[in-house]
Amino acid sequence: MGKSSKDKRDAYYRLAKEEGWRARSAYKLLQLDEEFNLFENVTRVVDLCAAPGSWSQVLSRVLIKGEKFGRAGWEQKQHDLRQYVLSGEKEPEKTAMEKTEHGGPVESTNQGNTTTGHTESSETVQQPKPENRSKREGVRIVAIDLQPMSPLEGVTTLRADITHPSTIPLMLTALDPSPSPSSTTPSSPVDLVISDGAPDVTGLHDLDIYVQSQLLWAALNLALCVLKLGGKFVAKIFRGKNVDLLFAQLKLVFDRVTVAKPRSSRASSIEAFVVCEGFCPPAGFKPSLEKPLGAGSTLPVPEGQSAQKEVKRTVRPDGAIELDLGDETDDEGEARWIAPFLACGDLSAYDSDATYKLPKDRVSLDPVQPPTAPPYKRALEMRKLAGGAYGKTKGQERKEG
Ligand code: SAM
Repeated sequence: MGKSSKDKRDAYYRLAKEEGWRARSAYKLLQLDEEFNLFENVTRVVDLCAAPGSWSQVLSRVLIKGEKFGRAGWEQKQHDLRQYVLSGEKEPEKTAMEKTEHGGPVESTNQGNTTTGHTESSETVQQPKPENRSKREGVRIVAIDLQPMSPLEGVTTLRADITHPSTIPLMLTALDPSPSPSSTTPSSPVDLVISDGAPDVTGLHDLDIYVQSQLLWAALNLALCVLKLGGKFVAKIFRGKNVDLLFAQLKLVFDRVTVAKPRSSRASSIEAFVVCEGFCPPAGFKPSLEKPLGAGSTLPVPEGQSAQKEVKRTVRPDGAIELDLGDETDDEGEARWIAPFLACGDLSAYDSDATYKLPKDRVSLDPVQPPTAPPYKRALEMRKLAGGAYGKTKGQERKEG
């Protein structure tokens, strides 16, 4: 698909380039934050499966630069306008982004700088005024991905596999550069773990759902090792069969579990996000990646210990674990729990499934940060060596020679 047809189809893809985000996924996190106030009092965060880095960009801009988006940003804007009205001053000039239909070339006038068209990292586009910012102390952001990621201000990036146990010491060192040698948890746990992990989709529905659930499981186990009590975990899920069992398991370690669908996530996709709030592991629970949650009989309630939550577990002969959540079982007494579903993002926001008509003079922008080492790079090189899309056909070879 050509750049411009993708632009027409996907408003968020286009908007991301205009507003300087590395990927359209930034809007998913921003819309989740609008609904759940995810970044409130947050200073320490782990971003799993982070490349190319639009979620880390959101973290960097909110936590390090103190920018405000979503509801908080809107409220600040309203407040500023009221201040202008009260002081009798003229309303501040709107930036070109606010004036024009999204889709026109970006032109932003901020603090005297004028930027036209696409900027490498459009840090100059739509920057709130410094007085709108509230910087936070002691911020630590660690981003992990299999793929390399271009640097971002205030973000420590690690190239690692989140499903591999060796990733945990790397993550702990990145969180605490000088931990005690025997520590298996960070000295200051983190407030928030986010994971947008997705495997390369094969199109085989069940396989994709299976691989995705393995990533989610790995993300949860990493989160259990570093989250502080009351912390939050947000992760991408594919809503397949038996997803309610997953919700029930998450409900063992979090007070509130909600399934959220941001407006920027296509309605036609089975993607959604679990937003888990109020981390409250059962008493005596010790996280471990060697024996992760749910493996063998290592579920969080050790025999003979009192638990903060009453959870009965039975290990079946095939090794599968049945959970009994007490009151939270369904009519047939099965360990199922239906998580509330919430569509989030302002209703006036773009519809990610719609196609928008673009102005004739519109310029299509390049991506903000092309992938550093995309998996398809080798395939492209091989194709080039072979002399084009399908190499030379027999007919061409005969003609040439
Ligand atoms: N949140 C990112 C952003 O905003 O730019 C987009 C994430 S992208 C949808 C999914 C990422 O998951 C890919 O970069 C991929 O490399 C990563 N991933 C898949 N499996 C992984 C694994 N086992 N360990 C680490 N990262 C993984």
